[in-house]
Amino acid sequence: MQRRVVAEPYKIKAVEPIRMTSRPEREQFMAEAGYNTFLLRSADCYIDLLTDSGTSAMSDHQWAGLMWGDEAYAGSRSWLNLERAVREVYGYKHVVPTHQGRGAENLLSTITIRPGHYIPGNMYFTTTRAHQERNGGTFVDVIIDEAHDAQHPHPFKGNVDVDKLRALVGRVGAANIPYMSTAVTVNLAGGQPVSMQNLREVKEYCAGQGIPVMYDATRAVENAFFIQEREPGYAAKSIASILKEMMSYSDGCTMSGKKDCLVNIGGFLATNDEELYTKACELVVVFEGMPSYGGLAGRDMEAMARGIYEMVDDDYIAHRVGQVRYLGHQLLDAGVPAVRPIGGHAVFLDARAFLPHLSQDEFPAQSLAAYLYVDSGVRAMERGIVSAGRDPATGHHRYPKLELVRLTIPRRVYTDRHLDVVAGSVLGLFEKRDTIRGLRMVYEPPTLRFFTARFQPLP
Ligand SMILES: *Cc1c(COP(=O)(O)O)cnc(C)c1O
Repeated sequence: MQRRVVAEPYKIKAVEPIRMTSRPEREQFMAEAGYNTFLLRSADCYIDLLTDSGTSAMSDHQWAGLMWGDEAYAGSRSWLNLERAVREVYGYKHVVPTHQGRGAENLLSTITIRPGHYIPGNMYFTTTRAHQERNGGTFVDVIIDEAHDAQHPHPFKGNVDVDKLRALVGRVGAANIPYMSTAVTVNLAGGQPVSMQNLREVKEYCAGQGIPVMYDATRAVENAFFIQEREPGYAAKSIASILKEMMSYSDGCTMSGKKDCLVNIGGFLATNDEELYTKACELVVVFEGMPSYGGLAGRDMEAMARGIYEMVDDDYIAHRVGQVRYLGHQLLDAGVPAVRPIGGHAVFLDARAFLPHLSQDEFPAQSLAAYLYVDSGVRAMERGIVSAGRDPATGHHRYPKLELVRLTIPRRVYTDRHLDVVAGSVLGLFEKRDTIRGLRMVYEPPTLRFFTARFQPLP
């Protein structure tokens, strides 16, 4: 089938050489890394799809901004540029810079959450939930049911189920809900978007209850792209105007600049609320630094300010999401089981369906990621039973419904040709999937085991 070709809306000015290793080398590296892709050296990875966080390629304008960065301790020109960029592009009144997204989550959670509070959200995110729980809060998932089904074709699988939210308010009372936490897009659901209509409904309902709405805006531009593409009435609107409308249905956001904002480090808390802003300025000094740099160098703020203007370019974002889909559809068209619809930042292989002959105790996603690396030097990440960890009460493995391998596409880094290599390797493995064996865990750390656990192949 002929597809319309959308080429990269940039040309390449500097290159970073990568090295293809031999298969015997990769077999050795994978064994030395205990069959855990987190323990590989990046120099030994030909195509690194571990994450899209902080791995974006900056533009020549951003690199020039590094040299132009104003390193003054207070009142830096680069801080003023960042503040202006956030106000203009996102539309919030106040900005507090932080070293990355979790720095902003720490501020928001510490200021607003008290023991006994409940925080509704459209599926959890690891660091977000960790900060909510650290402050005595309980996360409650209010995403629509379709989000938990890898094959459901819902166009806005990240939507909040307003009935679930209403039920929670009825059960615990609005006074015990410091804010509604809405992620746009939803990372752990596979980069799935939230519709404008849903954002509007959630805001309307929460406003009536006196509950502020705070976004996790990490991939909000990717979300805006899906609205432009799929929601009636938005096809002719610019990404910049859609993003602003999305943000208008919130009271503020936490942000990891390492995703949408096209930088290697940085983040911020933004809000229209005077009291939250004042408290955040008081607290940021303790954890990050002055409210005019928040743990960032002037050059980092300059690069992020410039990245914020670049990220809302319609051609850029259409290509970014299109490239993820380019890989995803090659796999789906060949019958490879993957989460659908393809999301905004990654393709998620369904390892359970890929390797039906392996039980979840044989770590199918972990094993598939290891085979992929050995086959072609492509580094992916497990998101399944290893990542889910053990139930603290029983000590048994948690058995998540989704057993996935995540192929995450860094922004502006790889060409479609690289993705052809990835697709070819996955398809090759799919053809000989019967020969793929499972693993057994031989070292297990007590917490966040997926980072450092070690495995051996089963006979
Ligand atoms: C990465 C991420 C964060 C945390 O941001 P860091 O910059 O890594 O601290 C929060 N939420 C989502 C959805 C993310 O993807």
